[in-house]
Amino acid sequence: MPSLPKAQRRPWQPEPVKRTYQQHAARSPEYGTARWQQARATQLAKCPCCEECTKRGRTTPATVADHITPVRLGGDFWEPNNHQSLCRPCHQAKSASERTQQPQGG
Ligand SMILES: [Zn+2]
Repeated sequence: MPSLPKAQRRPWQPEPVKRTYQQHAARSPEYGTARWQQARATQLAKCPCCEECTKRGRTTPATVADHITPVRLGGDFWEPNNHQSLCRPCHQAKSASERTQQPQGG
């Protein structure tokens, strides 16, 4: 009985799917898990408005579940008290400022 030829990658087949912006920016593998999707949905359901905008007296729908203390700086990834709802501009501004911070201590 002849064996089937091995599967080969053909030129007309699509390239492997590129990472989305969030997957690329996130770095942590936890962001790709169903558990995080659930934690994110829970946070956005609890606080549907951007918390930074709320502090400034604006009402903006939140689209991002952010870590108040970044995981990179020792924040707990799964702790709900370390989650906050942000709109994309606020999240980007926060992330940009965090890039200049270093973990404290050793
Ligand atoms: Zn905002």
